[in-house]
Amino acid sequence: MTTLDLRRIKLRSGEQYRDEQEIRLEPFELGGQRYLPVPGTVPAELTVTRASTGTVFELRFDARLHGPCFRCLEDAVLDVPVSAREYQAVSPGDDEELRTVYLENDKLDLSAWARDAIALALPDKILCRADCAGLCAVCGGDLNAEPHTHEESPDNSRWAALAELREKL
Ligand SMILES: [Zn+2]
Ligand SMILES: [Zn+2]
Repeated sequence: MTTLDLRRIKLRSGEQYRDEQEIRLEPFELGGQRYLPVPGTVPAELTVTRASTGTVFELRFDARLHGPCFRCLEDAVLDVPVSAREYQAVSPGDDEELRTVYLENDKLDLSAWARDAIALALPDKILCRADCAGLCAVCGGDLNAEPHTHEESPDNSRWAALAELREKL
């Protein structure tokens, strides 16, 4: 877990702190599949800006994820540019908008923030390529490797049962 201790920075109102932080990224799950950041540690640009009413945190980095393609389950590699922003008011009161969940006891949890920021930056579907043909709904074959269609509905009941089973999954 990568954290930043704000007490170490000691910013006064109007001051800004800029730093490059090595952030360890955690693997995460999406749609029941596991996605692994490679490399597991990335350089991130962190900016902390102190105003009289609060502090603005900005984080920028590029993540690369490895995991199964949504359509064909082959390995997919996805580059995710991340740009995130958080705010912590000096006196947030009960307003959740005025506080960041990543700050506790003056420590900013960069790993948790980076993980959530990646999740927000992800596309709806992670694909091995934009035009991935996916798996055949009838026989389960890989349509990228073997493009094919089934002219007639299969009279082989075993395939039909398999297709029915896939739909239930
Ligand atoms: Zn694919
Ligand atoms: Zn097929």
